[in-house]
Amino acid sequence: MKIDCPCCGGEIDARHTESMSTTLRRMYFVCDECGYRTPAALEILFSLSASARPREGVVLEVRPSPMLRGSVNARTTMQLERTV
Ligand SMILES: [Zn+2]
Repeated sequence: MKIDCPCCGGEIDARHTESMSTTLRRMYFVCDECGYRTPAALEILFSLSASARPREGVVLEVRPSPMLRGSVNARTTMQLERTV
């Protein structure tokens, strides 16, 4: 996974990840351009649809998005928003 370096604007790459819980992962990023190193977090916030195979003890609220229903998906919704 790559993101923009907050210091120089280059790309920083996740070199190592560490599981903190079933929904939270810590990632360690390194920038080859400026030498910056930082930890960041990736967290599952909630569900857009329920899992067909829910794991016992993991509760993720289902918050369906009206923009993702029917024949319109996230990709086409984003394209529509850009052209409006
Ligand atoms: Zn950098």
